[in-house]
Amino acid sequence: MAKGRFWDMPIDTGPIPPSESDFDCIVVGGGPGGAAAASYLAMGGKRVLLIEKGVWPRDKVCGDAVGGKSLGHVKALGIKAKLESTPHFRVTGIVFSSPNGKEVMVPLPEEDVERMEAGYSLPRQQFDWLVFERASELVLKNNGAVIQGATVTKVLDSDNKITGVEIGIGGKRGEKRVYSAPWTIGAGGYQCPVARKIVKEMANEELVDKMHYCGGYREYWDGVKGCEGDSGSIEIHFVDSIIPGYFWLFPLGGGRVNVGIGMVIGLMDKQKKKLKPMQADVIANHPSFKDRFADAKMVEGTGKGWQLPFGSPRKKEKNQPRRAFAPGALLIGDAASLVDPFSGEGVGNALVSGEMAARHVIENKGGLAYQEDLWAALGPELTNSYKMQKLSRRKWLLNWFVGKASRKPVIQEMMTEMIASKEAQENLHSKWFLMKTLLF
Ligand SMILES: Cc1cc2nc3c(=O)[nH]c(=O)nc-3n(C[C@H](O)[C@H](O)[C@H](O)COP(=O)(O)OP(=O)(O)OC[C@H]3O[C@@H](n4cnc5c(N)ncnc54)[C@H](O)[C@@H]3O)c2cc1C
Repeated sequence: MAKGRFWDMPIDTGPIPPSESDFDCIVVGGGPGGAAAASYLAMGGKRVLLIEKGVWPRDKVCGDAVGGKSLGHVKALGIKAKLESTPHFRVTGIVFSSPNGKEVMVPLPEEDVERMEAGYSLPRQQFDWLVFERASELVLKNNGAVIQGATVTKVLDSDNKITGVEIGIGGKRGEKRVYSAPWTIGAGGYQCPVARKIVKEMANEELVDKMHYCGGYREYWDGVKGCEGDSGSIEIHFVDSIIPGYFWLFPLGGGRVNVGIGMVIGLMDKQKKKLKPMQADVIANHPSFKDRFADAKMVEGTGKGWQLPFGSPRKKEKNQPRRAFAPGALLIGDAASLVDPFSGEGVGNALVSGEMAARHVIENKGGLAYQEDLWAALGPELTNSYKMQKLSRRKWLLNWFVGKASRKPVIQEMMTEMIASKEAQENLHSKWFLMKTLLF
């Protein structure tokens, strides 16, 4: 293992298997979801083919916050100690501000990081390197194969069952090879070819609903005031010009900060807004931020946009949030549209669904059972988050709530529990609890 910044080094994944090879399962995409699914499958004794279009080291546009939900998987995959030995920012709180500039800090106690589901922030280049390298090690050890720098160009089917994939080595126009397996897991993110095949082509259902897709834009900055140190709060600001949506400052340690904004695409289109100029305006002119950025410098070439497929329930379709299975195939992570519609977090749900899909393949269960299990596990919190997202579209409500929360410790405690513990999220269903806490 290379010393120093090993996440800037290439990962050796061995030779590309000959065309027409067979596997127990093909995993398309080597982000957190695909890498986790491949790892769990290999640990369960399956011969896996893991295919990734990028070549490590590679970046992924993200806010870089890895929430507590991910920590159990990071541990189960055997990379927790290694991850914690690399530079990261330990999140001990979340600062929220409302459009009128009021602020509240919700603490996530450091000593209780696992139970309270606080987490880290660290660049995705670093996080993804760790999970992909671990997946490669486990897959290769179990007689599978890992391919980087190859794009899945076709998803193959026979008698309405997905049977394998065609790849182009080095890109779409590169040398073609085909592979087959009784199961294929689609983990290719928001542009996943397996999702397109299952949802659009096979089921003729809607893949992209702009009211359930978010546009996100991030930049890396050095020297933003108030973001020094290697532990502390990440910041979520509901700024006047970005409602409905938010502006974030997620420190990464060592004085570097992930700065970005996100907004539901359907609502952004209605307001005819663009994320990059909106962010530039907040940084240069907003009274709460212009001084904090006065001596800061953007890291060149880091301004990039991407899309977040939200997991909010979509009324028209019975498979929520959208279809995630076909005979012979399952979808996970962003390919299954599982990003939290309030916080924008998707890494945790990519890992959770990766483990769940691997289990279903190992047990050779039908696809509908996977969809039902997935929604049973994630549906309640995704539905809650969607309600919160809709409430946050009202400026007056945000002003009122943050103002109230900044004065009442009991609301701060409630928010800590809401963010951090799953049981406490149940309280959101109790109108009596909310009324009592907010009004008195
Ligand atoms: C601006 C922004 C901010 C965000 N902030 C946060 C945050 O702070 N915390 C958080 O938890 N989440 C955040 N998210 C969401 C998070 O990035 C995703 O939910 C997460 O990356 C999903 O993981 P995944 O493995 O499903 O997909 P991805 O990470 O997208 O990985 C998919 C992989 O598949 C590969 N691939 C795609 N097509 C093909 C193909 N045809 N053939 C082969 N390989 C292919 C891609 O190269 C990629 O490596 C943010 C997203 C954005 C855009």
